Amino acid sequence: MNSYHHAAVLVIYTGGTIGMVDTPHGLAPGPDMEARVRRAVDELPAQRRASLPAFEWLEVATPIDSSSAQPEDWATLAQLVAEHYLAYRGIVVLHGTDTLAWTASSLAFQLQGIDRPVVVTGSMAPLAAAESDALDNLVDALGFAAMPQLQEVAVCFAGKLLRGCRSRKWHARDSDAFTSPNAPLLGECASGQWQLHESRGLDAVQRGAPRFELGDYRGLGDKVVRIPLWPGIRPWQLAAWLDDDRVEGALLEVWGGGNVPDDPQLGAVLAEASGQGKLLVAISQCPQGTIAIGHYAAGQLLAAAEVVSGDDMTPEAAFTKLVHLLSLPLDSAQRRELFRTPLVGERG
Ligand code: ASP
Repeated sequence: MNSYHHAAVLVIYTGGTIGMVDTPHGLAPGPDMEARVRRAVDELPAQRRASLPAFEWLEVATPIDSSSAQPEDWATLAQLVAEHYLAYRGIVVLHGTDTLAWTASSLAFQLQGIDRPVVVTGSMAPLAAAESDALDNLVDALGFAAMPQLQEVAVCFAGKLLRGCRSRKWHARDSDAFTSPNAPLLGECASGQWQLHESRGLDAVQRGAPRFELGDYRGLGDKVVRIPLWPGIRPWQLAAWLDDDRVEGALLEVWGGGNVPDDPQLGAVLAEASGQGKLLVAISQCPQGTIAIGHYAAGQLLAAAEVVSGDDMTPEAAFTKLVHLLSLPLDSAQRRELFRTPLVGERG
C-alpha cells in the first residue's frame, strides 16, 4: 500500500497550445499560465471543483511548442518527475499535442515501475479560446492523477485514458485527437466520473520499488533515425542513413506483416549496419496489427540482417525505446534483448 504524505497532485507545465496566446507571429506559449489555470478552475461549478484534488504547480524553464521537443527534454521531464513524485499522489504533465505521444512513451521507459499516476495531457485549442477542450482535459487529468490504482504513464485526452507508450496523435484538428491503435483504453470519463477499466493497468504487474532508468540522453538526437520504406527505395539511399558513424540505431517501418523489397543489396546494407553493432528494429507501416519477421519470404532478409521485431509497437514507442536503450550503458546484445522484452506494456 502506498502512503502519501501529501494529498495534492503536481502539475508540470511544459508548453503547448493549452497555454498559448495569440502573438503577431501566431500562437505561442503565453505568460502566467498557473494563474490562468487557477482562475479557470475556480470558475468551475462548485461540485465539479470539489471533486478535484488540490494541485501544486511547476514549470519547465522555458515552456515550448512541443514541435521543438528533443530527447533531452524527455530526460529533463523524467528527472523532474523523479525529483518530486514522492511528495505527491500523482503528476499531471501539460504538454503540446504534436509530440505528446513521444514524450509519454519516453517517460514510460524512464519511469519504469512508477507507483502512482503520471497523466500527460494538453489541448487542441488554447485555454482562453471559446469552446476550448483545455479545461475538460485538465480536469480529467487531475481526476485520474488522484487515483492510486493508476500506476503508470498515461495520456488523458477527450475523456479517454490511454497507455502512454501505446498512444498516438491521430487527428490534426478534432478535439478527440488521440488513440491507442493496438491497446484498449485504460479508462474513461463518463458523466463526470473517472473510471479505470479493470485489469488493464500496470498496477497488477508492479513489483517492489520503482525502477527508474534515467539514462544519459545528451546528444541522442544524433544517434537514432526513423526510416519508412517506400516502393523503389535504393540501397544507396538506405546506406546514406545507416552508414553514418553518428547513427547507432534505426527504426525501420516496413510493409504490412513484416515485409521488405526482395533486394539482396538492401539486405547487405542492413546486415552491414547490424554487424557494426547498430541496433536495427522494425515495425509495420500499418497503424494496426503486428509484424512477424520471416513469415513471408519477402521478410527473410530482415531476419538475416538481425533486425529486431518491434511487433505491434507504435513508431513513437519503438523510437523512444531505441533512444532509451542507447542512453544506458549496455552492449548491443543486451539492447536487442531488452528491445524484444515488454518493459511497460508497450508491446505484445
Ligand atoms: N504545436 C502545438 C504543440 O505541440 C500543438 C498543440 O499543443 O496542440 O505544442
